[in-house]
Amino acid sequence: MAQLSEQLQQLRQQIDAADSELVQLLLRRRELVAQVGVIKRAAGQPLYVPEREQQMLELRRQQAQQAGLSADLIEDVLRRVIRESYQQQQAADVHLQHKNIVVVGGEGALGRLFVRLFSSAGAKVQSLDRNDWDQAETICADADLVLFAVPITLTVALIERLPALPAHCILADLTSIKGQPLAAMLAKHNGPVVGLHPMFGPQQATLAKQLVIVCHGRQREQYQWLLDSIIRWGAHIRDISATEHDEAMGFIQVLRHLSTFVYGAHLAEQQVDLAQLVSLSSPIYRLELMMVGRLFAQNPELYADIILSQPHTFAMMNDYVRSFETILSRLQAGDKSAFIAKFAEVKAYFGDFSQRFLEDSQRLLDAAGDAKQIS
Ligand code: NAD
Repeated sequence: MAQLSEQLQQLRQQIDAADSELVQLLLRRRELVAQVGVIKRAAGQPLYVPEREQQMLELRRQQAQQAGLSADLIEDVLRRVIRESYQQQQAADVHLQHKNIVVVGGEGALGRLFVRLFSSAGAKVQSLDRNDWDQAETICADADLVLFAVPITLTVALIERLPALPAHCILADLTSIKGQPLAAMLAKHNGPVVGLHPMFGPQQATLAKQLVIVCHGRQREQYQWLLDSIIRWGAHIRDISATEHDEAMGFIQVLRHLSTFVYGAHLAEQQVDLAQLVSLSSPIYRLELMMVGRLFAQNPELYADIILSQPHTFAMMNDYVRSFETILSRLQAGDKSAFIAKFAEVKAYFGDFSQRFLEDSQRLLDAAGDAKQIS
């Protein structure tokens, strides 16, 4: 017995030594990443280069397989390490030293994120928040960019309230709706104008792999440096017209947020024991519950404004309620075949996406399984 415990002790020491080597290796890797960062910055290259990341992961997967290790394990470990590298590289990327930037609403959740991004890129950044309007002219006098990050309901009125901007200054916004703010900016300012919608929240540590939707306004060549910075920070940009954006957001945001809200509100009305639901949930159900719960940790004004700002989506949401009722009443009547027929219809609609979504979500579920458990 004593001998076994001695052996165990020795093996544990060797595992500790191997883990310690891993720490040293990660440190070495971080130093190399810093050197890559210096070269990338000098060459103005983006933080996130999908092909390079894909190739790197593929090579290491092959190596792992040949060595008898799980390729998925190595990919998971590397992805986590790479995410850390993006934060490290973004923090050191100073490339906007000569820009004066004003963030209207720079003290808000998303405003603060952009103030931090521009400041760490070397720009001189000023916030024009609710108590600063008496100095608006001075604040905006030398601006190269005025960026709006104020509540949706105030955006148009505050754009109209802006003083005249320098002719070369970009007027841009981050509002979750695009039609009205873009029209107001084009009416206010004759210089470069662009509408942006970051499809992420203020919790984001880096922009790597995030999406920013761009609705072009005017004089694109003048605001290209702003888009280049966003790409440099690792985000993708997708351009679309403001009208198409607002229509698509009806489904991506309005319908989703409202369904999530109703689901959460129903749990609350029924006073369901959340701790018990969590304890009975495997990763997939826990993940779904988290997606509902996280909504209620955020800003109710923002969600109310997103839903209310697009009245044309109410008709679509009423259709949704009708679909729910129709399917429910058929099920209540015991009509299993109607449910199965509908299922086949929807499956055909999703086509190849169904299988792809199944495979892609598996990785998320595995990660959710690793996540710290809520107790
Ligand atoms: P927020 O309420 O956290 O911040 C709004 C900021 O605007 C605050 O600092 C507030 O003091 C300021 N403000 C209010 N009245 C003002 C005035 N009269 N003059 C100047 N500033 C004023 O809101 P948020 O979540 O940061 O959202 C801001 C914008 O970003 C919205 O248009 C929203 O649609 C968009 N957006 C938010 C998110 C998100 O997840 N938070 C994501 C994408 C887009």
